[in-house]
Amino acid sequence: MALPWSDDDRFHEECGVFGVWNGKDAAALTALGLHALQHRGQEASGIVSLDEAGIFHAHKGLGLVGDIFGDAKVISALPGSAAVGHNRYATTGETALRNVQPLYADFEFGGFAVAHNGNLTNAGQLRRALVRRGCLFQSTTDSEVFIHLIAISLYATVVDRLIDALKQVQGAYSLVALHNGALIGARDPLGVRPLVLGRLHEGWVLASETCALDIVGAEFVRDIEAGEIVVIDDAGIRSLKPFQPAPPRFCIFEYIYFARPDSVVEGTPVYESRKRIGAELARESHVPADVVVPVPDSGVPAAMGYAAEAGVPFELGIIRNHYVGRTFIEPTDQIRHLGVKLKHSANRSMIEGRRVVLVDDSIVRGTTSRKIVEMVRNAGAAEVHMRVSSPPTTHSCFYGIDTPERDQLLAAQHDLAAMARLIGVDSLAFISLDGLYRALGRPGRDAANPAYCDACFTGAYAIPLVDRTDNTETRPSLLKATL
Ligand code: AMP
Repeated sequence: MALPWSDDDRFHEECGVFGVWNGKDAAALTALGLHALQHRGQEASGIVSLDEAGIFHAHKGLGLVGDIFGDAKVISALPGSAAVGHNRYATTGETALRNVQPLYADFEFGGFAVAHNGNLTNAGQLRRALVRRGCLFQSTTDSEVFIHLIAISLYATVVDRLIDALKQVQGAYSLVALHNGALIGARDPLGVRPLVLGRLHEGWVLASETCALDIVGAEFVRDIEAGEIVVIDDAGIRSLKPFQPAPPRFCIFEYIYFARPDSVVEGTPVYESRKRIGAELARESHVPADVVVPVPDSGVPAAMGYAAEAGVPFELGIIRNHYVGRTFIEPTDQIRHLGVKLKHSANRSMIEGRRVVLVDDSIVRGTTSRKIVEMVRNAGAAEVHMRVSSPPTTHSCFYGIDTPERDQLLAAQHDLAAMARLIGVDSLAFISLDGLYRALGRPGRDAANPAYCDACFTGAYAIPLVDRTDNTETRPSLLKATL
């Protein structure tokens, strides 16, 4: 994840992680798992495998999993029955191989590879202290602090050193790590980011989402719990709970947008959750209409739920071109605008002369909505009503979901009427926070102890934003790496 201070190296990743223990062709399985997790990171991928002689093998690249690992020769150069892998989703700035995970280090106890999904909120502070102690950072990702904290730990075993490191970091993390003796999975004490455990024949799989278990034919066993560390070795699986227990705060945005619809997150199928959110949205903000149109693909399940509840036909009034990346990852405003046009087109026959309800999962900068609304109007819609299956995104995420600073968040800058005007719709409504909790089966949000991390909608940050409130500047890396 990104270090907030390194402006031109700024990576705001939303990542996917995968790990295999005792699996035939572990690297090939990992490549498949990463492919299923591609939506979590499209910028770069890496796999580190461990062979029977205790030698680690690594391959990393910039781009999509299929481009990096599609060649059988690449996979056959990653032998072994254990492996870990990582997908990264970076948005701006330097795209350098040195930042691509899994990170690997040779310790006195042997080799160690780690892949991290999440974002540490005190990485800048830790990094400054580690550099003063003589640690030589090789990348600009916050995840590298894990490596140095493990290196300087005075504990004897790898697991104890890792726990020692985890007790010093703050923030969100789901980790998979590999050393010569075990595959380790860890979730931060609040369990902000997901991590699941699967069984594959005699072996084990760890993955960000269940869709990655499905692709390799692994059977879902359970979610790794908030604050849990699992150590998987030839003797089986051991669960450790080294942290003070705390009420979990799973990221609510995983349900709304980020996780793949066929994944089951914390016991709940994402697809069904999204449909229920759409139905709740229809109950809260019904408007007379002729057709419900999703903004594809992310708006589809919510639009289906909305349409069914409202009794209005659901139609694919916008067609998405699947051969361009997510709009959001384009680096400049100009390109981002262009990106939206490249990605969506109006299906005129479903729109012309009709009162259209457009359903999308979120409005961030408003770029997508503005373009889509203009397109739907140009296609002859009689009215355009926008319904959003999340509450207004008013705050940035510092726990691993890419969101711009508040000054770029439409809902942080404007009230509902102004947003409707800017987007160009006849009416605009977001699901309420209470409605969202109701749809997720947790009615009656307790403000003092909400069931989820919903900081992007409320500003209630459960993990201290240490680096944001600390005014000490950390000098950015002076190396401009293109590779
Ligand atoms: P915007 O155009 O800036 O308002 O972005 C909103 C669109 O981006 C919505 O259609 C979402 O599906 C998508 N989106 C929302 N949050 C993210 C995110 N963190 N990363 C990538 N895409 C996102």
